[in-house]
Amino acid sequence: MRTDRCGDLRLEDQGRTVTLCGWVGRRREHGEHLAFVDLRDRSGIVQVVVDGAADLRSEYVIQVEGTVRQRPNDTANASLATGDIEIDAQKVTVLSAAEPPPFPLDDRTDIDETLRLRHRYVDLRRARMQRNLAVRAQVNSAVRTAMEEQGFIEVETPMLIASTPEGARDFVVPSRKEPGSFYALPQSPQLFKQLCMIGGVDRYYQIARCLRDEDLRADRQFEFMQLDAEASFVNQEDVLAFISYTVASATESVTGQRPGEIPQISWLEAQERFGSDKPDTRFGMELVELTEVFAGTEFRAFQADCIKGIRIPGGADLSRNRLDDLTEQCKQWGAKGLVWMRVEADGLNSPVAKFLTDNEQSALRQTMEAQEGDLLFLVADERPAVRHILGLLRIEMGRPPVTEGGLNFLWVVDFPLFEGIDEAGNPQPAHHPFTMPHEEDLELLASGDLLNIRSQAYDLVLNGWELGSGSVRIHRGEIQQQIFSLLGISPEEAQEKFGFLLDAFRYGAPPHAGFAFGMDRLIAILAGEENIREVIAYPKTQSGADPLTSAPNPIDDRHLEELGLRVLPPRQ
Ligand code: ASP
Repeated sequence: MRTDRCGDLRLEDQGRTVTLCGWVGRRREHGEHLAFVDLRDRSGIVQVVVDGAADLRSEYVIQVEGTVRQRPNDTANASLATGDIEIDAQKVTVLSAAEPPPFPLDDRTDIDETLRLRHRYVDLRRARMQRNLAVRAQVNSAVRTAMEEQGFIEVETPMLIASTPEGARDFVVPSRKEPGSFYALPQSPQLFKQLCMIGGVDRYYQIARCLRDEDLRADRQFEFMQLDAEASFVNQEDVLAFISYTVASATESVTGQRPGEIPQISWLEAQERFGSDKPDTRFGMELVELTEVFAGTEFRAFQADCIKGIRIPGGADLSRNRLDDLTEQCKQWGAKGLVWMRVEADGLNSPVAKFLTDNEQSALRQTMEAQEGDLLFLVADERPAVRHILGLLRIEMGRPPVTEGGLNFLWVVDFPLFEGIDEAGNPQPAHHPFTMPHEEDLELLASGDLLNIRSQAYDLVLNGWELGSGSVRIHRGEIQQQIFSLLGISPEEAQEKFGFLLDAFRYGAPPHAGFAFGMDRLIAILAGEENIREVIAYPKTQSGADPLTSAPNPIDDRHLEELGLRVLPPRQ
């Protein structure tokens, strides 16, 4: 139906007769009959000069036959790739009429998201969405190529499965053949990829759809895509190298530049310096240790397990209102209080300055390398609380927008095996129950000093977003049993839930390790979007609904009957 795509035409095409198809964008009248019409397809926009364009409205689908000609000099448009030329239309055919679009399609307007999603097919025509989908396709393709270059093969795993152990709520699907029984939709292909290793696949990957019934946020959807990978006869460094190579290729496919080697930081160091296990290293404002400075202080509020501070360069002019708001915010994050200090020429200006000795004040200024005009924030509390609160405050004060500050990938390694102890006294796995403890810490398993056991688990972080996680796996049944029992999972329960995995271990399991990272998050950052919904063709809203198809929706009684289900009235 066409000889060319709109966005591809250039001055060299001058004089050619072309046939183009696309949507009518903006039009500008020129005298009584002539109109300039922007014709748009996926490749871009070209200006068409139409004589008698009365019946061409916005978003009509048309076919144009015409000649490419140079625009008169003073009308060339340097901001448009096709801006040197225009099409002198000889024949225009309307292929499809259109109602006026529900919202303007230029990229400048802020449009209600529900409206956009309800008419996603119109929204997708916008240049920004077209670009985001193209970035997505590029990243998918680069990831596949990079994994294959490294000897991985793509294996597809099922969607209807028994529950997986990622720790979120499952989406379930009722079974018609066995009323009262349910499939779970995979939170990840975790168990299947481990079984692939036992099955001799050696290096597996998949761009896998994962489903988790969790509350949605800007960087979270019910369903999302992961690059999921697993390899046999490898250690942690091998996995980091595979994944580093792949994200470098993905990045290069979009930016044209290959990022350098990805630095590593231990979980503990990340917590101490950045107050986070996913530090955004695009900016400084690191947490400074002050516990020693106030070791002998008379000031009650500073007689705490730990004191740390952050320095906001040039922040002394923050208004009192803003400081009060930040204090309130910190309390909501769980702080007992927040101490602020303005660094002035003649000393520290702060409500607590009078409680601190001159020595303490000067040691503080020195340790924090404070300059006149800076603002200091201090928190005193238990160590984990101090790290947590200052970590959040640091982000609040310093985080650059997604499009600034470059791409800072970071490996966080040596995660703890357990992240805490629940009310029933059972430790909670920081990653998942198949993660291998650090070799050096294996003896702590028996000692009861559980929270100090490091694991062979690692996260990949990009600009403060957790891109993904992975670990070296337990490949021996007896260690796996030991971990299950520490987690409070009885042998019967372990058998019932993961018996197939424990059975498989008996038939020759190679040492193996793996990783998964969120494609949506990586693509969003590479496309310069804050919200992953902008890089997903058909996302759900923040409340989990799809305004386009009205999912989720009720099913009829006959269908319920067939599945052996009855719906209870809504809870009061
Ligand atoms: N299955 C894990 C996840 O989805 C990743 C991994 O351990 O490979 O987070």
